[in-house]
Amino acid sequence: MLARGLDGVDEWERRWRPFEVDATLRVDDAAANAALEELVQRLHDNYPFFHPDYAGQMLKPPHPVALAAYLTAARINPNNHALDGGPATAALEQEAVAQLAQMFGYQTHLGHLTSSGTIANLEALWVASRLHPGKRIAFSSEAHYTHARMCEVLGIETAVLPVDAGGRLHVEALAKCGGEIGTVVVTPGTTAAGAVDDVYAVTNLAHERGWRVHADAAYGGFFTLIAALPEAEMNHASWAALAACDSIVVDPHKHGLQPYGCGCVLFADPSVGALYKHDSPYTYFTSRDLHLGEISLECSRAGAAAAALWTTLRVLPLRAHEGLGPVLLACRRAAIAACDRADEGALLTSVVRPELDIIALAPMRRGERAKASTVSARTETLFTNLMRDRERPFYVAKWRVGGGLIGNVLPTVEWDQVGCTVLRSVLMKPEHGAAVDDVVAALERWPSLSE
Ligand SMILES: *Cc1c(COP(=O)(O)O)cnc(C)c1O
Repeated sequence: MLARGLDGVDEWERRWRPFEVDATLRVDDAAANAALEELVQRLHDNYPFFHPDYAGQMLKPPHPVALAAYLTAARINPNNHALDGGPATAALEQEAVAQLAQMFGYQTHLGHLTSSGTIANLEALWVASRLHPGKRIAFSSEAHYTHARMCEVLGIETAVLPVDAGGRLHVEALAKCGGEIGTVVVTPGTTAAGAVDDVYAVTNLAHERGWRVHADAAYGGFFTLIAALPEAEMNHASWAALAACDSIVVDPHKHGLQPYGCGCVLFADPSVGALYKHDSPYTYFTSRDLHLGEISLECSRAGAAAAALWTTLRVLPLRAHEGLGPVLLACRRAAIAACDRADEGALLTSVVRPELDIIALAPMRRGERAKASTVSARTETLFTNLMRDRERPFYVAKWRVGGGLIGNVLPTVEWDQVGCTVLRSVLMKPEHGAAVDDVVAALERWPSLSE
């Protein structure tokens, strides 16, 4: 695929008169190969993100189609800041973004890709603060940590709300808030446990109170494709209510099979574009059409990221029964199966019932009374020993259950310290479906590997 793509770019380049590459740019082939060889050796110092035995953090390689498209476009290296920087990839970005907006049920939209979910959220919070100056932005203690950081950057006061026993924003606590709030951030898919806030209840409440709602669907967004399928066992109302949110962030570089450098922000009301008005005469001069740079906080952005997403969506469309839907369904089913399998074994205790493809399990027998410090020590030791196993290393992650969840989950834990570290596993590869027994069996090794 890559060779095809690069040949196509060669052909395009040959339309212009030939010229000599400057001597300053020429490198010795042997030296370049040696440097690459050195790089490859250095890259061996990585965890096997591509492999089903890596079931740790939210990491996996992009789809080969995305990579081929990215590198093909990167050979030209267009900049999607302005139409003049990359007319083709700017058009591809608009088409791909329109598909994302449609996936969420937006009737109208304004949006663009960003270099990350953090920048996309920053942009949504910035718009929120411009529309509700002086008001607070509310989010739960389980919302992504960058919301607090970005509110600090923007100089906005926050209101951190408690969560319920499922790790979801506590709607009754939100209902007690009043006119001090301008915007509520809901998280359909928290980063730690994949908890899905009750977007339906929050949007209803917010419409009564005149609050804006921003959905941080950086991780969970694509799951909306399968939310109506009975076998996905999801709360469909929450996902359908995304269409009623004022803005949505989704990260194609998380569940959209893209290489890093691909977030997206969407606004339901295109008129927020007026807030970005600025003058940068040296970048806009050939067209009166929309310049992506006019509606974004960032300047330079890889046009290659748009090319990669657009091409991926051509072959893996945003549908429930084909394309991306079945990929997500396999991950979702793996998490349900892993949780059921762990419950059956009675050697592990789930912290919350998984709502997406993330499982959180405490190394404690069913009904066991154990100190938080003991459970944390078991987690730490098992985590390290699984990774160091010579025969078959296994990679999981850890999660420190703290904040509003203390006392709310794990009823048999004795909270002798602030927080309890448990095992967490993100089953974000469809191959995890076939690896469920192996994942759970690895975690069930805590009595021999951690004591
Ligand atoms: C990952 C994540 C972010 C941050 O996105 P980046 O692309 O890593 O900057 C924000 N919110 C949620 C819910 C996330 O999972």
